[in-house]
Amino acid sequence: MKVLKFGGSSVAKPERIQGIIAILQQYHVRNDDFTVVFSAFGGVTDALIDMATKAENGDETYMVAFEQFKIRHLDAAKILLSDDRFAIARRQIFQNCEDLLGVLKGIYLIREVSLRTMDYVASFGERMSAYIIAETLNEVGIPAEFLDARKVIKTDKNFGSAKVDFLETDALIADYYFKHKDKIQVVTGFIGAVKGAKGSDFGLTTTLGRGGSDYTAAIIASGLNASVIEIWTDVDGVLTADPRKVKKAFTIPLMTYAEAMEMSHFGAKVIYPPTLQPAFKKKIPLYIKNTFNPDFIGTLVSSDKNPTGHAVQGISSISNMSLLTLSGSGLFGVPGVAGRLFSGLAAANINVILITQGSSESSISFAVQPSDASKARRTVEKSFEFELKNGTVNPLSIESELAAVAIVGENMRYQPGIAGTMFQALGKNGVNCIAIAQGSSELNISVIVPKADEGKALNALHEAFFLSDTQTLHLFIMGVGLIGSTLLKQIASQAAFLKENRSMEIKVIGLSNSRKMILDENGLDIINWKSMLYEKGGNSTPSVFVEKMKHLNLPNAIFVDCTASKDVAEVYADVLNRSISISTANKIANSSSYDNY
Ligand code: ADP
Ligand code: ASP
Ligand code: MG
Repeated sequence: MKVLKFGGSSVAKPERIQGIIAILQQYHVRNDDFTVVFSAFGGVTDALIDMATKAENGDETYMVAFEQFKIRHLDAAKILLSDDRFAIARRQIFQNCEDLLGVLKGIYLIREVSLRTMDYVASFGERMSAYIIAETLNEVGIPAEFLDARKVIKTDKNFGSAKVDFLETDALIADYYFKHKDKIQVVTGFIGAVKGAKGSDFGLTTTLGRGGSDYTAAIIASGLNASVIEIWTDVDGVLTADPRKVKKAFTIPLMTYAEAMEMSHFGAKVIYPPTLQPAFKKKIPLYIKNTFNPDFIGTLVSSDKNPTGHAVQGISSISNMSLLTLSGSGLFGVPGVAGRLFSGLAAANINVILITQGSSESSISFAVQPSDASKARRTVEKSFEFELKNGTVNPLSIESELAAVAIVGENMRYQPGIAGTMFQALGKNGVNCIAIAQGSSELNISVIVPKADEGKALNALHEAFFLSDTQTLHLFIMGVGLIGSTLLKQIASQAAFLKENRSMEIKVIGLSNSRKMILDENGLDIINWKSMLYEKGGNSTPSVFVEKMKHLNLPNAIFVDCTASKDVAEVYADVLNRSISISTANKIANSSSYDNY
């Protein structure tokens, strides 16, 4: 049995659903035994949460969002189904909408939405999508049946992020599928129901956490001891980095469960982290594939290490992070301090993302989500109340606006020099590492950096570990007179040679004369730059140009001064302070005051 899962972006529009039906038809024709899990249509879960929040706040426009929800599903069903089938589906869609509207009205009247109610509201996304797609499969002659996962996935009462009872769930899944062998089961992702004996909470709707449909697929696969899990999404597998942040990211063909777990825990949204646990436990291989590029092999996650892989398999990041530091003489050589600190945080249900302690033991730093920072502070202050009063522990310091960046890979183990490469790449680009952590399994090295440097850090690391064969320089050229324009001509004429013989790519990102400037993060057209600069350029001064350059915050940036201007030479200190190199033809810089030199 294969378990396939299609995410929200894959089912955002009826045309996309038709693309998926074509993929599933191939499985059907091949007589593959498969079941398929669906997320809500793209954006629907957000819309449901938004309408419930509006109703809670007494904002009547929740009705507008509700109508859009209804129309979106009715329209999709109308496009995908024949008139006869649509007539039946329409009744079910109306019924769901009526149920949803009832709850929304309740929320509006009492101005309150609990996590429990929110889970019920959110469940309508998957219930609608899986139902409509099951009917669409029947429409094209693939015998299919809608399966509301609440029938088989049983959880605790931790609404919003419920924990699955695998004992009960595995048994229910096996039994259900045994009794429903004739048809392909089309399952709602993301949702479950409260387990236990029949009583007041029994059967209440729960959700498995945002992005949880991936997990549903793994839960079903676990119950069925499936041969494979296929997560179909909108990118070519797990990439070396988030493609939205690193344009040159590419597919990792093979990775271990541990590597995938590490990447997903560290922000790679492509797999919802809990998904890997049942897959790992039952040794079920997991593919990540692209619905927009179905013939591409994608990523295989299994127990096998990538024998030819890079030492570092991937780089990921968490964009929002707060770092809390506990310090003071009272921590030195006292056993049990870390235990007290972290058991307090665990009891308060605070997820600690990263921990570091210096060997002097006089401080311990730990990173949490910003939304947990104040609660973490209160908890720690309570745990160390006595030491705080007698002054042996200092008040907790909190640093915000931070990001965590991690390199991940099993082959890093026992390989010296990886940390060196990492810190050199960051240091060269002026990225300050605020805290560092490495697990002793050497599967992951993480650093905390200022949030503003996240993109630069990711790109610099990506280049250092994956693209060492081609280095990209980002040039900001000030002055386009005889020297500047000749330099541009030389860069254009030498580009191919440099790439081939020097493994170097030069991108001119910014160009400025004394009045105008043009910038393009992806690189300017250095053949037709003149008309662009004179016709479309924005107002420029040396300091404005430097500010723009600093704001872009690109790795391997070089400020090239092709002027003879004193004003430009005066911005050098600012440029160098940002760890941006300078290449200059301006004699004033080297011949003005000695201090400035
Ligand atoms: P789905 O709707 O299919 O569940 P998600 O949006 O949850 O899709 O996950 C896919 C997205 O994850 C990609 O579009 C990509 O932007 C993001 N992503 C983040 N890190 C990575 C990575 N390392 N590899 C691939 N995708 C990543
Ligand atoms: N629809 C849910 C969400 O948006 C679950 C998922 O897409 O995996 O979080
Ligand atoms: Mg997802």
